[in-house]
Amino acid sequence: MIVLGIESTAHTFGVGVITEDEILSNAKESYRPEKGGIHPRKASDFLASRAGSVIRKALTTAGAGMEDVDLVAFSRSPGMGHSLRVGSVAAKTLAYEFNKPLIGVNHCIAHVEIGRRVTGMNDPVVLYTSGANTQVIAFQGGRYRVFGETIDMGIGNFIDSFARYAGIPFPGGPRIEELAKKGKYVELPYVVKGMDVSFSGILTNLRQKLKKHELEDLCYSLQETVFAMMVEVSERALAHCQKKELLITGGVAANKRLREMCRLMCKERGAGFKAPPMDLCVDNGVMIAELGLKMHKAGVKGEVNIDQGERTDEVEIKWR
Ligand code: AMP
Ligand code: MG
Repeated sequence: MIVLGIESTAHTFGVGVITEDEILSNAKESYRPEKGGIHPRKASDFLASRAGSVIRKALTTAGAGMEDVDLVAFSRSPGMGHSLRVGSVAAKTLAYEFNKPLIGVNHCIAHVEIGRRVTGMNDPVVLYTSGANTQVIAFQGGRYRVFGETIDMGIGNFIDSFARYAGIPFPGGPRIEELAKKGKYVELPYVVKGMDVSFSGILTNLRQKLKKHELEDLCYSLQETVFAMMVEVSERALAHCQKKELLITGGVAANKRLREMCRLMCKERGAGFKAPPMDLCVDNGVMIAELGLKMHKAGVKGEVNIDQGERTDEVEIKWR
């Protein structure tokens, strides 16, 4: 069975083509604002302008035509309305024109499912760390439950916002990781509330410290503090759910220090730790195809309307 998956929740238009056994292609284009954050209309204009070429590239690389595709999947939730609409229209146009079944999927759960597929981990706690999302997810009682999450901004948006105040262009994460290597510790607030984390107060605190400290020191302290917060919550989720594996995903999973901290925590408690290859950690169409495939095989019809705010734990899981 050949599945074409379309990702379009925020800044990336991604198309993946897969079968049960193979990932055939993973094409994508991402919107990069010249300055400031992501402007919703500009992002969606960009996605629409690239949709056709990314679809063509994914099919060509896969050596398939639309007539070979058995199912079209797209990210219907959660995300930015403008962006979601672009992927939804692209998927519907293909499905209706070529008379293929269509399935809408949840983006966050797609990150989890592609992680399970490529790492071989069956039942991990998932630390999902991206621009807009920061969630600790585990499968419990028939659903993917959110055991901990940010109560304000996502970890990546937090890092990018600090970077912007410090004059570093988007995306700030890689540059902050570089600078952090030369830094030493400056005390910052540490904000874990039960199982949840909060970044906005730390951002304000860092902003106030900008002129008074070396940027390297602030970058180092930022990483040590907020990564420790997320690792602490992940560890508690592992303990509470009695799970034996941690999977990290999302764009911030590129960070080597975050991975190292996860690895150390897991080693100390005898748990496994893995991350998918980076091109499957960031937003991509392959993960959408993977979740579409699993849902379709489980007989789930799947909504085809978009939903900006659907939560991970609202989705009924019939394929596990
Ligand atoms: P996503 O939303 O999953 O596409 O991830 C994008 C986010 O990942 C942006 O906020 C980036 O700043 C962040 N990011 C990328 N590379 C790194 C890195 N090496 N360290 C920290 N954050 C990163
Ligand atoms: Mg994502």
